[in-house]
Amino acid sequence: MALRHRFALLAAAFLIGCAGVDLRAAGILADRLTPRQLPIWREIETVVLARDSSGFPIHPMLYSLWQQLEISGYLVAIEFPEPKGVSSCSGGQFVVEKTSSGETPGIGVIRLFLQDIDRASTAEVARRSDGFLPFQYLSSRPLRYAEVLGHEMAHALQILSREDPLRLTGDLKQEAERLLHDICRHKGTAFHEEIRSRAKKVELMREAIEKPAREAEAAVWRELAATQRAAGARPSAVSVHLSRASGEIGKRK
Ligand SMILES: [Zn+2]
Repeated sequence: MALRHRFALLAAAFLIGCAGVDLRAAGILADRLTPRQLPIWREIETVVLARDSSGFPIHPMLYSLWQQLEISGYLVAIEFPEPKGVSSCSGGQFVVEKTSSGETPGIGVIRLFLQDIDRASTAEVARRSDGFLPFQYLSSRPLRYAEVLGHEMAHALQILSREDPLRLTGDLKQEAERLLHDICRHKGTAFHEEIRSRAKKVELMREAIEKPAREAEAAVWRELAATQRAAGARPSAVSVHLSRASGEIGKRK
């Protein structure tokens, strides 16, 4: 285990101790990754934790999201789901697992769909309505993965800090499913005004969840695009650039 992880666990244990809750295993955990996936995760970690020659984080927004999560007292596992022949159409996902006993929230899980991120287009058609074009100029895979990680870490902080973390996304899912069911029932007839109103409500609920994560992702992207520019266009030059800049923090135990 890297020294910083041990430090984060100690910090989390202190916070937990203050709260009277046992969160000894809090922090970002990579123990669900396979031996083949771990080196990819280490590359992403190097991007997140890279520091310049003065010791300042090279990607301060990304680093801040990571540190907030590490000392938050929450347990967040990382997963790289293997493709099953069908694209998920999603570069990442954050979910809160339920405990085996029922409805109470357990561990948070950040999933990065690496193949989908690799394949994501940076053509103009992929530009979002707010003007942001994900992965623009990022040819290095670890930088692309780090952008999605930033988005999902923002979700994790937003959702896990709620008193009822299962409810926020649960309400949206339930409302969206009901809406879809009712739209199917109205097939062939003009949409009822009530359906339109509910569709608007679902969109507002979704936007309330997505907007902070998209803003965090855009800020992270600006940092990563600067790294890509500094290293030149070649993806391999990014890791050399970062390992030189990272210094001691790039070394692992
Ligand atoms: Zn999102």
